[in-house]
Amino acid sequence: ENGHDQKIDYVFKVVVIGDSAVGKTQILSRFTKNEFCFDSKSTIGVEFQTRTVTINGKVIKAQIWDTAGQERYRAVTSAYYRGALGAMLVYDITKRQTFDHVARWVEELRAHADNSIVIMLIGNKADLVDLRAVPTENAVEFAEDQGLFFSEASALSGDNVDAAFFRLLEEINGVVS
Ligand code: GDP
Repeated sequence: ENGHDQKIDYVFKVVVIGDSAVGKTQILSRFTKNEFCFDSKSTIGVEFQTRTVTINGKVIKAQIWDTAGQERYRAVTSAYYRGALGAMLVYDITKRQTFDHVARWVEELRAHADNSIVIMLIGNKADLVDLRAVPTENAVEFAEDQGLFFSEASALSGDNVDAAFFRLLEEINGVVS
């Protein structure tokens, strides 16, 4: 990681969206703090967290926004999407419904976010292999169809979380520079 006096080349705003309880908050804390918190939801009111990374020689501060539970009331406002260069669209591989709603979230992004926003679809809770309800191929097909990047991941084990964020940030870096 970077010292305090390091110069930041870019700040990239990334929003995390998806149904309630898919693991958005945990994915965010895994990436920014390398933590998983078993009893979470003390996060209401926290707007974003940051992590500074170096990509292709550029120092990038990723500013990652959490819905802080707004999605439960279908009240994610356009202010949330404003200025976002990337989106992590999360579903839960053990809950079919959360995958069925992904199309709606993509529509929401197309309606409220910038046209050039880079979208990464994340099938979270990949550690729960015995409870899988969404085949990987379904998500691969959907992502190809919609022009999204895709990865399964686990906030609990940490598998693929950094890789997915780095991929997203690299793509954004490619768009802006
Ligand atoms: P949010 O409402 O989308 O922000 O979801 P949370 O981050 O609060 O997570 C919802 C629940 O799923 C919590 O009980 C988490 O402990 C659990 N959870 C989150 N990520 C994972 C994961 O990767 N694996 C497993 N097994 N549980 C997870």
